Amino acid sequence: MERGVLRLKRGREKRARTHPWIFKGDVADVTDVAPGSAVTVVDAAGRFVGRGLYNPRPALCCRLLTWTDEPLDAAFLRRRLGQALALRARGRPGLPELGRLVWSDADGLPGLVVDRYGPVLVVQCLTLGMARRRPLVLDALGTLTSGLPVFDLDETAAARLEGFEPARGWARGAGPASVEVAEDGVRFRVTLGAGQKTGLYLDQRENRARARGLAAGREALDAFCYTGGFGCHALAGGARRAVLVESSPEALAAARENLALNGLTDRAEIVAANAFDELRRLERGGARFGLVVLDPPPFARNRTAVDAALRGYKEINLRAMRLLEPGGHLLTFSCSHHVTEALFEDVCRAAAADAGVRLRVLERLAQASDHPVLLTVPETRYLKGLLLEAA
Ligand code: SAH
Repeated sequence: MERGVLRLKRGREKRARTHPWIFKGDVADVTDVAPGSAVTVVDAAGRFVGRGLYNPRPALCCRLLTWTDEPLDAAFLRRRLGQALALRARGRPGLPELGRLVWSDADGLPGLVVDRYGPVLVVQCLTLGMARRRPLVLDALGTLTSGLPVFDLDETAAARLEGFEPARGWARGAGPASVEVAEDGVRFRVTLGAGQKTGLYLDQRENRARARGLAAGREALDAFCYTGGFGCHALAGGARRAVLVESSPEALAAARENLALNGLTDRAEIVAANAFDELRRLERGGARFGLVVLDPPPFARNRTAVDAALRGYKEINLRAMRLLEPGGHLLTFSCSHHVTEALFEDVCRAAAADAGVRLRVLERLAQASDHPVLLTVPETRYLKGLLLEAA
């Protein structure tokens, strides 16, 4: 059994029994334990609470992996990975070809993300403890996925915070430089190690399908389009035309390639611009769309940035609402962890009031179901959206 013991302050065990995150402020004392090692977490009276991986460097110093008195060894990781994959395989013959197979805290594997892009897996270690266990994770994945090649793609910011060298590149042997994947029949080329997230915004998959179903015969606007996800789906769904707006040249180059790959280039207009400016310009020009998608980056990366973020959300939503034709649909999102669903809805309400537009809430949208939400871990519900219809 592990030697390290982390004792919580009195009263902090309640949250720790259902939430995996322990902050330095929750800790009464810790025995001498090497960064990245396993610790047994106990309450103030010394009673077992759970076991997690410890790192004294970040404020979030321990993440619990289990609430059972069991070792965090190779067999444990393999069991947990097997459970995560089984969840994704539920109701289908095998693992999905494209999607998130393991999602950190939501799968009881804090600090680990595994995404599948067709013939390859992309693995992200986000904590020191998980980075140290990468060989065990790779061994288990090798067995569970019959040896799909793995591309390591750690996030620089997380690695810096946790104090380890981010791994980037093929974990074992070499795979292709890029892969082509199909999302509900729309093809996307993903260059491994390039772009944002692990390649695609897999969390928007179900919402792209929703947008596609609303697109037939309409003019569509995909603001913050990245590599053209919503725009390609809207066109594949029969949109007469789609305008794709994005500020990153690399993302736009990939969007062009994806449009071409699907034979959609003719009906697409690509605009390299700041979406704030472009929305204002379109509004001034009296443009109208039957379908508008607003999928901005997280404006609030920390708590103090929330006010500025809310102003940003209000501004783009106000403009987008004014661009809607009667009966038109707006899919609007926030992926900022610090902006709650209620707060986001308030901002959209304020935007509609200022825009003088009446809208029906057709649906509340969230991240794709392969990014599960834990009731007691509200941080797992980070992507919020509304599907609005101009009355
Ligand atoms: N909807 C996309 C994901 C969007 S992610 C999909 O389904 O794949 C947000 C995108 O907004 C990123 O590609 C980022 O480069 C871009 N972006 C960030 N700030 C921007 C701005 N001010 N104007 C235009 N694009 C911006």
